[in-house]
Amino acid sequence: MSEPILTLKGIRYSYHSLTGEIPALKDISFQVKNGEFLALVGPSGCGKSTLLNIIAQLMEPEGGTISFQNPDGSIHYPRIGYMLQHDHLFEWRSIYQNVTLGLEIQKKLTPEQKERVNRLLQDYGLYSFRHKRPSELSGGMRQRAALIRTLALDPEILLLDEPFSALDYQTRLTVSADICRIIRKSGKTAILITHDLSEAVSIADRILVLSARPATIKAEIPIHLTLADDSLLAARKAPEFGSYFNQLWEELADEKAAL
Ligand code: ADP
Ligand code: MG
Repeated sequence: MSEPILTLKGIRYSYHSLTGEIPALKDISFQVKNGEFLALVGPSGCGKSTLLNIIAQLMEPEGGTISFQNPDGSIHYPRIGYMLQHDHLFEWRSIYQNVTLGLEIQKKLTPEQKERVNRLLQDYGLYSFRHKRPSELSGGMRQRAALIRTLALDPEILLLDEPFSALDYQTRLTVSADICRIIRKSGKTAILITHDLSEAVSIADRILVLSARPATIKAEIPIHLTLADDSLLAARKAPEFGSYFNQLWEELADEKAAL
């Protein structure tokens, strides 16, 4: 993990409505390295989802530039996978048909790709559920299916917008551990929005704290935990965990006070 894969410079964005202008992002600049796991935290409504939509190029920034680099420094547009709070699995398709939907739409459902998807389903414990409908699966399994659907398209960058927040706390702990293990193993670059500070500290290599709207980068916190093993539970037990958590808490408390 060394070269940057993504560079944002001076990103600015405002929403325009009949009642006026709502500035959402103001002068956002940062880089993400290849293979890095970056977390974004910030007060509710500060502009986090807007920023992710701009990175996904679903929205055009009003100012600033966004560029994606190859390892050799050349510019390209990478394959981007997007995972949201709701899994958006289609009930009228089986789990297998759901996870292969993107490949089917892109006319890439070749025997090799089917083999790859089956391997992902096996690796992540969903193979025996592949003929089931989404409603027959638990919330955690559904979220895993949504991740496999995203990974099936072999994205280079994964964008995760509060993907665990619809799950109850217990499920959330296991599912976030599961999903992070899968993403780490795949070596993909990931950007995770979360409002759960413990989740951010235990998962991320680095955390960006955004200010209240219009969002700017208020703090950048690289995370280095002394780990007994690579589980998220070990991360939560690391000696440094508490001080990172407190630092984040204080950064955000300032922002909430400013609202
Ligand atoms: P976050 O994801 O951090 O909660 P968002 O990026 O969704 O925040 O939104 C940032 C701000 O922009 C919010 O305060 C919201 O009121 C405003 N906003 C979001 N979407 C729209 C829209 N389509 N039209 C007008 N304002 C919007
Ligand atoms: Mg949001």
